[in-house]
Amino acid sequence: MASRMFHVYILELDNGSYYVGHTNNLQRRLQEHRPKSHALISSVVYWSIMSSTHFHPLTPEEERVIVHGGTEPPGSGEYDAFFADGMYVCRRCSAPLFDAKAKFDAGCGWPSFDEEMPGAVTRIPDRDGLRTEIRCASCDGHLGHVFAGENMTAKDTRHCVNSLSLRFVPRDQAA
Ligand SMILES: [Zn+2]
Repeated sequence: MASRMFHVYILELDNGSYYVGHTNNLQRRLQEHRPKSHALISSVVYWSIMSSTHFHPLTPEEERVIVHGGTEPPGSGEYDAFFADGMYVCRRCSAPLFDAKAKFDAGCGWPSFDEEMPGAVTRIPDRDGLRTEIRCASCDGHLGHVFAGENMTAKDTRHCVNSLSLRFVPRDQAA
């Protein structure tokens, strides 16, 4: 397991929605939601304390990408041309991976980010001997590949990620 020093929390509510925000607002958000019968907190998901028993179940398509290192067809992903403000978390384990502020349109057909959350992504040489694979540092799920030297943004980094590996969480406006 890599760094666990994220100052981010995610609340997973019974209605299937999520809140993401900074930990200094966590107590207030808990107090706000606890009394609401329609928004009972089913679990407070700190990614750093999650284990394999907390993995979200995957569809066959998600398993092909996340577990077996597959790639979704370009332009097919739900987040390819999606630019709302929030956080992208691991679809399998909910670890925060990329801030939407780091997302840019690379025109490649996959969601692209020029910066990861600190310590959120593991880089390993790809089996193809050419590229660098990126995986979720929390659950080791396949995300995509990372490229440099393209000068597409000032950070000169492109995390090319499968939408199927991600789940978007709207930013908590109160955070
Ligand atoms: Zn993960």
